[in-house]
Amino acid sequence: MRPEILFPLFAPVTSLKGVGSRLAPLLERLAGPIVRDVLFLKPHAIVRRTPAVLSAVRDGEVMTFEVTIEEHQRPRAQSQPWRVRVSDPTGFMTLVFFGRFADQLESRHPVGAKRIISGKVGDDKFGRQMVHPDYMVDPAKAGEIPELETIYPATEGLPPRRVRGFVLEALERAPALPEWQDAAWKAREHFPAWREALERLHAPESEADLSPLTPHYRRLAYDELLAHQLAMAQRKAERRREPAAKIAAGAIAEKVRADLPFVFTGAQARSLGEIRADLASGERMSRLIQGDVGSGKTVVAMCAMADVAAGGGQSALMAPTEILARQHFETISGPLNDHGVGVVLLTGRDKGKPRAEKLRALAAGEAKVAVGTHALFQDDVAFHRLQLAVIDEQHRFGVAERQRLQAKGQAVHLIAMSATPIPRTLELTVYGDLDVSRIDEKPPGRTPVATRAVPMGRIAEVEARLRQATAEGAQAFWICPLVSESEVSDLAAAERRAADLTERIGPSVGLIHGKLPPAAKDAVMAEFAEGRLSVLVATTVVEVGVNVPNATIMVIEQAERFGLAQLHQLRGRVGRGRQESACVLLYDPPLSETAQRRLDILRRTDDGFVIAERDLELRGGGDALGLRQSGFPDYVFADPFAHRDLIAAAGDDARLIINRDPDLTSERGKGLRVLQELFDWKAGMALKDAG
Ligand code: ADP
Ligand code: MG
Repeated sequence: MRPEILFPLFAPVTSLKGVGSRLAPLLERLAGPIVRDVLFLKPHAIVRRTPAVLSAVRDGEVMTFEVTIEEHQRPRAQSQPWRVRVSDPTGFMTLVFFGRFADQLESRHPVGAKRIISGKVGDDKFGRQMVHPDYMVDPAKAGEIPELETIYPATEGLPPRRVRGFVLEALERAPALPEWQDAAWKAREHFPAWREALERLHAPESEADLSPLTPHYRRLAYDELLAHQLAMAQRKAERRREPAAKIAAGAIAEKVRADLPFVFTGAQARSLGEIRADLASGERMSRLIQGDVGSGKTVVAMCAMADVAAGGGQSALMAPTEILARQHFETISGPLNDHGVGVVLLTGRDKGKPRAEKLRALAAGEAKVAVGTHALFQDDVAFHRLQLAVIDEQHRFGVAERQRLQAKGQAVHLIAMSATPIPRTLELTVYGDLDVSRIDEKPPGRTPVATRAVPMGRIAEVEARLRQATAEGAQAFWICPLVSESEVSDLAAAERRAADLTERIGPSVGLIHGKLPPAAKDAVMAEFAEGRLSVLVATTVVEVGVNVPNATIMVIEQAERFGLAQLHQLRGRVGRGRQESACVLLYDPPLSETAQRRLDILRRTDDGFVIAERDLELRGGGDALGLRQSGFPDYVFADPFAHRDLIAAAGDDARLIINRDPDLTSERGKGLRVLQELFDWKAGMALKDAG
């Protein structure tokens, strides 16, 4: 239940004076549907209305003058504006008015009257002028002009000054709320009270007050982060309270592991250790394994599945695509079968009798591991005793899908896997309700991929090199980006590229894209994997963990359009064996400085975690698009870069709160409930969690 004190903030924007059916949709688009959203708009600039003299006009600036009305110049034609000539002792200026009310100007501002005018001035070949002054008042009413005015985001039909008016009204409606910050922390950080922080935000005293580093701004950011962290900590605690099967580390997994033709890296061993500690704890595990493509996540999960099987339980490994599910099946079924653990593969392609037989084996508990796609959580799939769900590329699944799989057993342990590296500082905001294991070490014997950026103008050279390499037996991926709004034209571009390459290289060029039916996709992929195709032109489907060890060349067209993380993942498709591999980043010049630096980062390192960290620094919190793609929440105040120190603090704070006052019944706890309602981060909500 929402506390009554918040009602005014949760009223629709139409409750603000002057917001009717015409403005409401505009304001909603700009801010959101309720008064709180208007209150949470942030000013991005300040205008000072300190008076100047006309001779000091600076083109393009907002300026203020005290002038005398000299002359009204009526328009000679309908389409022309009304002009008013004004002066001060230093010179003249023309005010320009369009629209049908212009003719009232003469009576309201008669010749000879003194006025204070303020607005954006132009000083160019048309002379000095001001089009539609923001203010034009009698000097006796100069007080109506704020000396310092905040500028808010605006939209067609809703100018910044109207927005400002609505924000200030929302501020008036904002109640003082009970304090939810820890007193000592609040004092240490010099945080003002919540309402005071908003007053400072909306009534800054200088440009410096707009900085995200000011105490009042940091307070608002911290509030937001804390609300979110608290919701995630509650979820995590709830899950932990569910008793789950205790699963011991067993001999079978050790044998499976000993049979592998390699030894675990330190990071793999550590991750398996963390998983085993969770499984043995009697609490339900929710753990994310984060690691680059090819870092060996799947084999770690395989050992956990062997432990579960040894205890008589079942596991399900779910992948987002058929190709991936098949590869996982190939990786794990051999080693597991060798030690008596039955594995079935279940995808959308299974039909009729064979499918019925697989379902029977799962329901009877004969098969201990199911590998598959979305087919795994369909209603007619039942397990005998499902104890562990492993979800690969977890962000490719919706919360509901992940939950449907986990609902096939009781208090099912969860391992989520992700190859999208997130900077450590942001981990809590994306995966705060999970425990995280990082595989930050590559299996030995991989040769780094030589990475070059090449302008599109030199594509012929790239093609010639490719022809030579494929003649010598090499295989290559050629990635065409999805760039336009229309999939159709992107597809056409990929088809054209495939045709071009066929002309230059020969018939061994294949094409794979998202619109192909799964069976056709698999067929092309299989041809490539078996070496019958030497070049695979693809839209980004290969992004998801497909493994073709013989492929050593990766060409990425319009590389500047991809996020760093995505480029890194694409590049991870090659360089998986001992052969030298190459990655060519084709770009359309000229490159912006940032694009240049991003491609440089990629050339210098192949550690996904380092790349994610540098990418964040480069953005400096600016362009949040890539971050959002990697799951960073759409915060109002909190900035991933400027407030990175607050993220960790909010995480600690939330954990402490949940330990001491799990039901939020203390005095501070009551305040925290208001905070959660205020930001809508509630425990029950479907957050970006893994179910
Ligand atoms: P991920 O799931 O992280 O993409 P996989 O577990 O599929 O990675 O491993 C990628 C490839 O590397 C597989 O062929 C696997 O057998 C191999 N591999 C995994 N761990 C090691 C290791 N420690 N040493 C050598 N090869 C390894
Ligand atoms: Mg993988």
